[in-house]
Amino acid sequence: MGRTGVQYSAAAITDQGLKRTSNEDRFGFSAEDGVYVVCDGMGGAAAGEVASSVAVDEVLKSLTGRDPAVDPAEAAAAAIRAANESIYRRAQRNPRLSGMGTTLVAMLTEGPKVWVANVGDSRCYRLRNGKLTQVTVDHSLVDEQVRLGRLTPEQALISPYKNVITRALGTEKEVAADIFALEAEAGDLFLLCSDGLTRELTDARIEAMLDEEATLEEHCARLVAAAKKSGGNDNITCILARAAA
Ligand code: CA
Repeated sequence: MGRTGVQYSAAAITDQGLKRTSNEDRFGFSAEDGVYVVCDGMGGAAAGEVASSVAVDEVLKSLTGRDPAVDPAEAAAAAIRAANESIYRRAQRNPRLSGMGTTLVAMLTEGPKVWVANVGDSRCYRLRNGKLTQVTVDHSLVDEQVRLGRLTPEQALISPYKNVITRALGTEKEVAADIFALEAEAGDLFLLCSDGLTRELTDARIEAMLDEEATLEEHCARLVAAAKKSGGNDNITCILARAAA
């Protein structure tokens, strides 16, 4: 696998938050293989946890064992399609799991080359030279309204529809992920997270926090603590991966 120039170190955390009775977020990563995944499940009873677990396990397994001859963007798209089918089939078979689904944000690295895939409103950001940029575009009703100019970002934050996502894994027979190709530079810090973080903390706040001197583990713990202090209304999950020369 491409090891030219850039190596990654990573840390992750998940937390139930203060209001939910369970944690339906799941994450998995292998910095060695350059694969990182965060999923935020939804569905009654334990269904959300099933959906997010299946998605993380399947995508992680399929991307860590991917054929190096296959284009990574293709490999990511195929892994996500397969995870979608797997969740959808389980939901069809088991009425208790009916309607379950999950968001997904995944990152794949080969040296400086980075691919990010998302479905739903879990996000990937990149911090470069102290500036935070959102890589993914949310598949959510309010985000689409903002892009169409029908809502301001401020209105979107308080909209009663802010929880409505327009794409998820497992709820339909087929799903398409958005895939973004990037080039990493030494010093870049990538954040993959569920909406339990981004609903509580503004991008400016996350940017300021990540720009402080700390280990990745400390950054993860501080982000969760800050999200809980701001309300902790939902499960909170973050993966941080830093590119180093
Ligand atoms: Ca959530």
